[in-house]
Amino acid sequence: SVIAERILRRRSLQIRDKQQAWQESPEGQKMEESRKSLPSYKERDSLLNAVSQNQVVVVSGETGCGKTTQLPQYILETEIEAARGAACNIICTQPRRISAMAVAERVAAERGEKIGESVGYKVRLEGMKGKDTRLLFCTTGILLRRLLVDRNLKGVTHVIVDEIHERGMNEDFLLIVLKDLLPRRPELRLILMSATLNAELFSSYFGGAPMIHIPGFTYPVRSLFLENILETTGYRLTSYNQIDNYGQDKMWKMQKQTLRKRKTQIASAVEEALMAADFREYSPRARESLSCWNPDSIGFNLIEHVLCHICRKERPGAVLVFMTGWDDINSLKDQLQAHSLLGDPSRVLLLACHGSMASVEQKLIFDKPEDGVRKIVLATNMAETSITINDVVFVVDCGKAKETSYDALNNTPCLLPSWISKASARQRKGRAGRVQPGECYHLYPRCVHDAFADYQLPELLRTPLQSLCLQIKSLQLGSISDFLSKALQPPEALSVQNAIEYLKMIGALDDNENLTVLGRNLSTLPVEPKLGKMLILGAIFNCLDPIMTIVAGVSVRDPFLMPFDKKDLAESAKAQFSARDFSDHLALVRAFEGWKDAERKQSGYEYCWRNFLSAQTLKAIDSLRKQFLYLLKDIGLVENVESCNTWSHDEHLIRAIICAGLFPGICSVVNKEKSISLKTMEDGAVLLHSNSVNAQESKIPFPWLVFNEKVKVNSVFLRDSTGVSDSVVLLFGGNVSRGGLDGHMKMLGGYLEFFMKPELAATYLSIKGELDELIQK
Ligand code: ADP
Ligand code: MG
Repeated sequence: SVIAERILRRRSLQIRDKQQAWQESPEGQKMEESRKSLPSYKERDSLLNAVSQNQVVVVSGETGCGKTTQLPQYILETEIEAARGAACNIICTQPRRISAMAVAERVAAERGEKIGESVGYKVRLEGMKGKDTRLLFCTTGILLRRLLVDRNLKGVTHVIVDEIHERGMNEDFLLIVLKDLLPRRPELRLILMSATLNAELFSSYFGGAPMIHIPGFTYPVRSLFLENILETTGYRLTSYNQIDNYGQDKMWKMQKQTLRKRKTQIASAVEEALMAADFREYSPRARESLSCWNPDSIGFNLIEHVLCHICRKERPGAVLVFMTGWDDINSLKDQLQAHSLLGDPSRVLLLACHGSMASVEQKLIFDKPEDGVRKIVLATNMAETSITINDVVFVVDCGKAKETSYDALNNTPCLLPSWISKASARQRKGRAGRVQPGECYHLYPRCVHDAFADYQLPELLRTPLQSLCLQIKSLQLGSISDFLSKALQPPEALSVQNAIEYLKMIGALDDNENLTVLGRNLSTLPVEPKLGKMLILGAIFNCLDPIMTIVAGVSVRDPFLMPFDKKDLAESAKAQFSARDFSDHLALVRAFEGWKDAERKQSGYEYCWRNFLSAQTLKAIDSLRKQFLYLLKDIGLVENVESCNTWSHDEHLIRAIICAGLFPGICSVVNKEKSISLKTMEDGAVLLHSNSVNAQESKIPFPWLVFNEKVKVNSVFLRDSTGVSDSVVLLFGGNVSRGGLDGHMKMLGGYLEFFMKPELAATYLSIKGELDELIQK
């Protein structure tokens, strides 16, 4: 060990020399200058001091002050200067892939290195990290996964958990685990970083850990609320509203006429209210309308209008638009480009900012455009805190964010654009004042803003907990309920119970809440339990190839594009892939395989263009498929990753496995004279999402549809669905080992009016029993 220590020391000295050489080089000096101008630099010493004196430190500071890029780097530099460079091991977690990658790249550049040297990153299924990597940026999920196999984080010297104010589920979960770990690893340092000033909450969770605030500097930003926007720009909600045909009807299948009428009513009432001298004296009608005021339902016209106004009338400066989701961003981008609404297209650089974008695109977002070109970035709430675009002068805030909420009573996840919190609105506004005074256009009235909640509800309290419960078990953290009760803000008992029941039902936990073999395998796959189960069954039943495509498609995003102005064409393009087999999942497989064929013939792009498919998404699906193969090889379910093409494409088998994964996501189908009636046990009547191939059918010749997602909007809508038969539901739905046939039938009972003779029942029970046992083996 003396020799080992000597080697370590020599290595540390080499690392120190290298760092010094960079710091003394002209480029290094220049970089140092710009780093020193960040507000965090003034707190460098007190930060380092606090970290060396305390096991836990909470740091807060405005977005852009240098927390993420600087603080981990200060620690790294100090360790290297103290000749401990080869021994330190710093992990900094990020809630999102894109920020882990972007930040690692930036920090490497600031250190005059390429990524993968002393600085690296690791995100789900991807990473750049070498043997000399001492500072690793990773997603929170990656650190949790590491804790699976390395409970004490052996060799790790510092853990930095970033963006804790967002209160993501993984972050809250990680904090419980770390709180548990700290006494076992007294020399481990934990640093929590937050953009907002609610540091007390975290400090008291860790027994009064010291808090350090980095005072930031931003230029003043003027807030324009809807009433001011209407006044300054002369915009009329009602007139624009007449021509809008986008908005909600795209999705919720409401009658266009009714919807338009309703929107016009709301718009005119809102206008009336806003034009009134005193906002407190709204008429009851106006008040009611304000409560339904929804920038989305007025369509993109308002956003377009504001963008036009900025492009034509305002001073130079980049624009950052906060929208709700990827679909909306894409549609708006298409629409703006198709109609050249913003004037000369060569003078506008329109960019979309989202989680899986390529790094070329990413670079454009940070770069200053040429003179005379206005950069407009359409982003989701990701751009609120995780990434900072310096040259933004104008922010357009639609006031909404798509958040998953969870209805524990109906066990239904809802993905609804909902109003953001005051904290988020402040954050969005702050993005405009980085380089000069800015303007923030809030597309909602001030009184709506005043009714926002102060902070957003933590994710742990608003999402289903299945994957999380599985992780608690595989990390051997004891009883699920006990563990979760130690959270910063523990979830409701009913939600926890639902998740445990679900895991028992699919056979991932046994009756005593112990992990089964299936459960253990599921916890190693980086996808939801139901999708993991499909992969495992796909391997067992030798039809992995199509199943991997389906699972990858569900986890990445839908590759079928539905541009709103060509919706009919896009729908019929998709329908061709369905070949009338009543399955969105099989349509996806066909589309993907057609694309692979086309790629081999060098005509992939043309194929995508003709069929309204996203080449980028298909590529992502392709790469995810490869990763699945390796993961399944690791658990021993796949022998040879090359033999993927020999797998069966038997349509009945694929349906059965889809059913095994998606159950109990199932609804009954009754074909009526003029319509189809669909029902689930919890929701009663449900509808099909208009993008589903099944939504175009007038009859569905299957008694059941299984689906992977239902979304509650005004009604409950099913997204992708696949028709399955009675026998498939009986054999592949759920897990019969629980409560035997009686228990299983009872569970199915609500769905199946299945008449079964006693002698048949015995046969069924034994087949189903064998099947379930096989899965567990
Ligand atoms: P915080 O974490 O406090 O929000 P960051 O450390 O992310 O702040 O950013 C500090 C500064 O570094 C910001 O001014 C930001 O614009 C700049 N910066 C961050 N990433 C990049 C990048 N990829 N390219 C150029 N500048 C960047
Ligand atoms: Mg940050």
